[in-house]
Amino acid sequence: MTNASLSPATQLLARTQVFDAHVDSLQRQLDLGHDLGTETVGHLDLVRGARGGLGTVVLVNWVDPKHIALGENAARDRTLALLGEFHRLAARHPQALRWAGNGELQRAAHARGAIAGIPGIEGGHSIEENLDNLHRFFEHGVRVLTLVWNNHLSWIRSCQSGAGAHVPDGINDFGRSVVRAMNELGMVVDVSHAGEKSFFDILDTTSRPVIASHSGCKTLHGHQRNLTDAQLRALAANGGVVGVVFCTAFLKDEAQAEDARWRESPEYKAIQGPNDTDVFLRQGEYLQQKAAPLSIETVVDHITHAVDIAGIDHVGIGSDYDGIGRTPQGLEDASCYVNLVERLLARGFRTDDVSKVMSTNMQRVFTAVTSSGAASTARLEPLRTPAAGSTARTRHL
Ligand SMILES: [Zn+2]
Repeated sequence: MTNASLSPATQLLARTQVFDAHVDSLQRQLDLGHDLGTETVGHLDLVRGARGGLGTVVLVNWVDPKHIALGENAARDRTLALLGEFHRLAARHPQALRWAGNGELQRAAHARGAIAGIPGIEGGHSIEENLDNLHRFFEHGVRVLTLVWNNHLSWIRSCQSGAGAHVPDGINDFGRSVVRAMNELGMVVDVSHAGEKSFFDILDTTSRPVIASHSGCKTLHGHQRNLTDAQLRALAANGGVVGVVFCTAFLKDEAQAEDARWRESPEYKAIQGPNDTDVFLRQGEYLQQKAAPLSIETVVDHITHAVDIAGIDHVGIGSDYDGIGRTPQGLEDASCYVNLVERLLARGFRTDDVSKVMSTNMQRVFTAVTSSGAASTARLEPLRTPAAGSTARTRHL
């Protein structure tokens, strides 16, 4: 096929590889034994990613907060087990995935035709209030930390309601020390899931650009996980980027109600499996099948609004693949990014601007943050973890 016969969207993806700032697939490999280097079920593996034009992916280690109650080091060790799966995947499929600890290594991965993989952690509970754990994760390759998930911590408030008296209004002194340590190491601070005051406290503290890896716009749908226009403007002033999420419940109120309705169905409630990751996968397949489809145009709406408020240099994508129940129509898995490119072009975005959203804005922040501190060298401490068995988990968005 000649280049001229390819669609403009396909041609654009041939030049600009997608940077997806938030993906949860590692749990399938740890808990279900899926080899993400082969074509699997769920939303993302390296085969479908490569077919879809994926160039860089943040593969997060998300630990169910219930591990905290299992005792000291339980959340840390579950994080290390997930991180071990990242490195196992890269070792098993070096042509398909390479660890990208900084912008230079990311470019080197691309030069070899591999997807650049950036390990992330979703939820500051993984560090168990100990900066030594943060350093340890960094030494084993982690370059992004979402400071808080839906569970409030003693040092940072999440966007969810119901924080107890022990939770600070925003972030406290320890929270500030985490942000500063990340700045010094060359780790990307991720503010998705943070409460509004926490968000602004983080921006007041950081000396580097930050990302909101997987969020939407509150003006379009008032979900607690979405960002207000004031937050979008502040993120732009910081030089940061919001990764627009593909989670149907965050994108449109009708879709959130539709998801909630099907989650109440007897069939949904009867879904069972050997562990929580398996159940979550089955539940997602059920929702995808049953719920009224949500148009891909909704994602374009959120991108367009974020660009209108924050500017074209401050918007990217963070699908949350394998961390969300269902997806909008046309974005069913990691082979589908081309459909989003096509709809952005149809909406009137210039090709250069589509490239910024799909790739280069996130790339800019990642490169800037990791070009200083210890991240600027290619050093990686080998991580030896047993091929960990299944550990239960609950629902995650
Ligand atoms: Zn999340």
